[in-house]
Amino acid sequence: MGQTDINSSNSLQEPVVTACAACETIPEDVLILTCEHNLCLPCAAANLHQSQQRAENSTFQSVICDECGVATVLDPASATELISLHMDLQQHI
Ligand SMILES: [Zn+2]
Ligand SMILES: [Zn+2]
Repeated sequence: MGQTDINSSNSLQEPVVTACAACETIPEDVLILTCEHNLCLPCAAANLHQSQQRAENSTFQSVICDECGVATVLDPASATELISLHMDLQQHI
């Protein structure tokens, strides 16, 4: 078995930026869902806010993918951050 010559400098991988599943803009910051769809942060924040309002338990912290309906459960820190972002955006409109 010879050694395989791997020259990684030859094949620079460009980061794959996928459009937001909800608004279809190419976001700078995305939330990657468990289903591997992406949501930009404003859409993710709005989504989380909606699902919190739908849920009887207000600590329910998950984002429902617009594309396929799969829920992504967020850790409390991320959820809090998203909600405060959402509140910020509401104030600036
Ligand atoms: Zn979006
Ligand atoms: Zn999805």
